[in-house]
Amino acid sequence: MKTQCEHRKPDGTSCRAYARTDDRFCFFHSPETAHARRKARKAGGIARSKKASALPADTPHKSLRNSRAARADGELLNCIITK
Ligand SMILES: [Zn+2]
Repeated sequence: MKTQCEHRKPDGTSCRAYARTDDRFCFFHSPETAHARRKARKAGGIARSKKASALPADTPHKSLRNSRAARADGELLNCIITK
């Protein structure tokens, strides 16, 4: 049977998450997972700060759907769009 996390919020209410197996607290409140939480926050920050990939500036502003190559192989394009 799962038990509820024993952490108390500043307003006095309890955390509503389930406690970890063999622990009194959930992942977010357990002192045992502090290192893992710090590592996850860092990984999230790194992922968010990555620049978005962009096409080169000289890429034509034509959609693939209307290009000559796409019309020539419509079946392949249909596969790309639907899958
Ligand atoms: Zn909790």
